[in-house]
Amino acid sequence: MALSKAVVGNFELYTIETGDIKLDGGAMFGVVPKTLWSRGIPADEKNRISMTMRCLLIKSRVTGKIYLIDNGVGTKFNDKMMDIYQIDFSERELSHSLQEQGFNFDDITDIIFTHLHFDHCGGTTFFDDKGNINYAFKNAVYHVNERHWETATNPNARETASFLPDNIQPIKESGKLNLVNDHHIFESGLSTVIANGHTLGQQLPKIDGDNKTIVFVADLLPTHVHLPLPWVMGYDMRPIETLKEKELFMKQAAENNWYLYLEHDLDVEMLKVSYDDHKFTVAEKLSLNDI
Ligand SMILES: [Zn+2]
Repeated sequence: MALSKAVVGNFELYTIETGDIKLDGGAMFGVVPKTLWSRGIPADEKNRISMTMRCLLIKSRVTGKIYLIDNGVGTKFNDKMMDIYQIDFSERELSHSLQEQGFNFDDITDIIFTHLHFDHCGGTTFFDDKGNINYAFKNAVYHVNERHWETATNPNARETASFLPDNIQPIKESGKLNLVNDHHIFESGLSTVIANGHTLGQQLPKIDGDNKTIVFVADLLPTHVHLPLPWVMGYDMRPIETLKEKELFMKQAAENNWYLYLEHDLDVEMLKVSYDDHKFTVAEKLSLNDI
């Protein structure tokens, strides 16, 4: 299926699919029993659920900057890791997506990382024929929240497995790392919302224009099935904080008719939410093409 796009205010938005991944269903739904979550997303024979790694390219008509939000898991995994996570590039892949949308790697001027877990930043670098690490986006600056950088470079034992040295070290040595604070504005109409429950300093890019707001919700809401408040990932470092952040955020989203752009949902690119009777529900499933 063709990739979607939209124009919102001063920005052109393009869907960039980077590939599919499977993760343990139990870990993805925390305390929620499988009998409940498996009605929303079926599990395979190893209890894994299928997800995708959907990124967003933003071209500013004012500054000419071309931003990419996250870049997927990349190609540095060995066969064993490819198998564990069932990484699949057969239907969706980063270079194909860029090409289809009329861009190439060198066009990207800014990469905004929501956070540095391996399924969000692996595409930054790749191994060449000699096994050396190379940079995929030669002209890009890397924007990471300063508190997130602190945690990514000094992780606790529970989060260490998500921060891979092959991903983090080259970013550190690139000379192009830009640490941003919680209230950073990239340019007029492009800012971030901070959500610390999943990992400290996770930043969710927010695009405003033409009286519309789109938020790239990353791991605050990985799929539409995660909408009920207590459906919080076991992967989250601070689940109670996620609960509070999610409630506050979703109320704002429902009230202001925000479009929520989903990174990991295989079937739903974007949604709008409703809040009735103390419950959040999916009001509309849509794609960038529908804006
Ligand atoms: Zn994550």
